[in-house]
Amino acid sequence: MATADNVIISVQNLCKYFKKDAIRALDGISVDIRQGDVIAAIGPSGSGKSTFLRSLNLLEMPTSGSILFHGVDITQKKVNIDQLRQKMGMVFQHFNLFPHRTILQNMTLAPEKVLRMPREMATEKALQLLRRVGLEDRADAYPIQLSGGQNQRVAIVRALMMEPEVMLFDEPTSALDPELTGEVLKVIRALAEEHMTMVIVTHEMAFARAVADKVIFMDGGVIVEQGAPEAVFGDTQQERTKQFLARYNERP
Ligand code: ADP
Ligand code: MG
Repeated sequence: MATADNVIISVQNLCKYFKKDAIRALDGISVDIRQGDVIAAIGPSGSGKSTFLRSLNLLEMPTSGSILFHGVDITQKKVNIDQLRQKMGMVFQHFNLFPHRTILQNMTLAPEKVLRMPREMATEKALQLLRRVGLEDRADAYPIQLSGGQNQRVAIVRALMMEPEVMLFDEPTSALDPELTGEVLKVIRALAEEHMTMVIVTHEMAFARAVADKVIFMDGGVIVEQGAPEAVFGDTQQERTKQFLARYNERP
């Protein structure tokens, strides 16, 4: 079911409390994610960015509010969580590849098991995706033999094996040495140019500004400010956002 304005995910007044409501990780988040949107979520540590992403594919069950995915509230209905997660690929700070499996095996495992894709087809698809990120010659290597940046590129194309509708990135470059960050951002940027729908939690402000259609600044479990990158970065309205961005601008 597609809505007229191509909203894929509509988050409405989403709350997530921990510790008997003592911690309000999300305290009323509302945002629409449209087909092809690239949304960058920024904000200080502890502001709820990860909880927001994790709620979208129900790694966290929200305390209240709703998440409409193609118009169906996934927090209410008895949804098939596995099916939902296939439609939302997630890439974490730590790439979570299986260490005892080769790159190729890491990529073909889920499609073979979950989608029942024939091995030859899965292999062909994996090699194609590895080629796109310049790693086709590493198919038979093990994760430990690759750099952090290479492993993260694998983690991204591994998620793409499932042909997700949405990609969720949680600080995909935060664990990488600075010289390896660029090669990962390049892959994400290429996906953005292909109009993959994405939500990217990042501390790479220049990247967010260049690639995102919309920037969300979170603090204390709420969206303090959101808008086009030129607006949020270039014509910041809220004092809290200004303070946060100033810390980045002070950096050498
Ligand atoms: P961010 O990703 O922006 O750094 P998080 O979403 O990880 O923020 O965390 C938001 C708040 O929720 C923080 O105060 C964090 O300590 C708290 N929190 C996150 N996950 C849990 C959990 N499983 N149990 C208790 N508190 C949590
Ligand atoms: Mg986080």
